[in-house]
Amino acid sequence: MTGVLERSLSDDLLGQLGPKGVRTGAGMAPWLTDFRGRRTGRAEAVALPASTAEAAAAVRAATARGLPVFPQGGNTGLCYGAVPEDGLVVAMSRMRAVRGFDRASGLLTVEAGLTLSEVHDLAAAEGMQFPLHLGSEGTAQIGGLISTNAGGTGVLRYGAMRDLVAGVELVLADGRVLDDLAALPKDNRGYPLRHLVAGAEGTLGLVTAATLRLSPKMQDRAHAWLAVETVEAGLALAQRLRDAAGDVLEAVELLDRAQVSYVVRHIPGTRMPFGEIPTWSLLVELASARAGAGMQELLEATLEAAFEDGLIADAVIAQNEGQGEEIWHFRHSVTEANAREGVGVVMDTSVRPGRIAQFIAEADAVLASRFPEAERAITAHIGDGNVHYIAMFPREAWDRHADPLAREIEVEEAIHDVVIRHGGSFSAEHGVGRKLTSEMRRLVDPVRLELLKAVKAGFDPRGLMNPGVLLP
Ligand SMILES: Cc1cc2nc3c(=O)[nH]c(=O)nc-3n(C[C@H](O)[C@H](O)[C@H](O)COP(=O)(O)OP(=O)(O)OC[C@H]3O[C@@H](n4cnc5c(N)ncnc54)[C@H](O)[C@@H]3O)c2cc1C
Repeated sequence: MTGVLERSLSDDLLGQLGPKGVRTGAGMAPWLTDFRGRRTGRAEAVALPASTAEAAAAVRAATARGLPVFPQGGNTGLCYGAVPEDGLVVAMSRMRAVRGFDRASGLLTVEAGLTLSEVHDLAAAEGMQFPLHLGSEGTAQIGGLISTNAGGTGVLRYGAMRDLVAGVELVLADGRVLDDLAALPKDNRGYPLRHLVAGAEGTLGLVTAATLRLSPKMQDRAHAWLAVETVEAGLALAQRLRDAAGDVLEAVELLDRAQVSYVVRHIPGTRMPFGEIPTWSLLVELASARAGAGMQELLEATLEAAFEDGLIADAVIAQNEGQGEEIWHFRHSVTEANAREGVGVVMDTSVRPGRIAQFIAEADAVLASRFPEAERAITAHIGDGNVHYIAMFPREAWDRHADPLAREIEVEEAIHDVVIRHGGSFSAEHGVGRKLTSEMRRLVDPVRLELLKAVKAGFDPRGLMNPGVLLP
């Protein structure tokens, strides 16, 4: 009889997953390059399991041979965490079952390969909402969103993905399955493992299913696009909105002039409501689960007072849901617009909101003196302190550099040094991936790093789950 390890990996996978579940050779191409086409990796095979049992078999088939496993979701990650480096890619697109909806608890249990948009639709069909919103929602998958602890525009009110995950199912490197889907509101049986898995970027195991917390559906909404002259005015306005609206403040986003101009230029059908692009734009939404809760009146009254106090230069309040949706469509188009504008070095920084203005001013000074050919663009979730500080290089200027990767690192390090001086983080919502591991080594406290490595060793002692990602 032939021993398991004498068969090739692909033969073993074919036997366990069938022909629909395995790709090799040229057939692997879609899984080897990140969606922006910036980095291409290598793999021996791609497994497409259709169940947890198949996923566990695929992982075991690789790790029993000492081969690493590279989990992949929608491949929309911005830090190259899903780009493989030899071994087995396990892609989750065939794990799409809805395992159950618990109305009494507002919990939805789904498999990892469903996209965020599909989960939005499932929640809506139950008269509820899943409050995570980001530009890649048509493609990013639940497993990937959990693994990067994705953020987006709803974090201010609902938290990041970690806060929305009540339970996970995880295939470990040796093929054992952790079933942590009980999702009890109170459960003190030790460390919350799902919180470790959220943001682990596939380094602890393969997420095969999750139980998600849904929220009541919003019945009354109001939206506005505000023009302000300074970051300080934007922050003061955000504070006023929070004081006036409390827990109905759904989102507050800040864009600078360059960022708005990229969307206007590159995304057909988007509309900017002012004659001239403002120096800074604040996009705001209030929302209540109670019908007729007076969101429009509350927004108008708050803005009127701010206008009288000179905080707002101009304002457009959406007169219906369609206009409100246009504002958020504009906001969610920034990543696509930036990719068309030039080569953007996108920093995913966070500081406490009170430090945002100073951080931006200092980062601007660094950019102007060291990288004068770049234009600064900003998209900030200012309610939670997450500033996407973007150095936008014209493509021709970028292509002149002999070593673009080294240039990218130089820019990142210069801006990250500023954020660290303000007590902030160089990785807020996109993850670390393969892109920022050197910054983990350079900037993260050694005690923290030791503990992270100890957690990794507990889940994956042989270091076979997504090696080279997250940890230096
Ligand atoms: C247009 C656009 C807009 C975006 N906007 C935002 C935004 O506003 N906020 C934000 O946070 N992000 C944003 N992103 C980034 C990206 O969409 C998120 O990081 C998303 O969570 C990645 O999901 P994915 O399924 O594509 O994961 P992938 O890119 O496939 O993988 C990301 C990481 O998770 C791991 N992984 C994937 N699936 C699994 C699994 N089942 N088990 C274990 N590990 C797994 C991978 O190994 C990799 O390390 C945006 C991206 C684009 C293209």
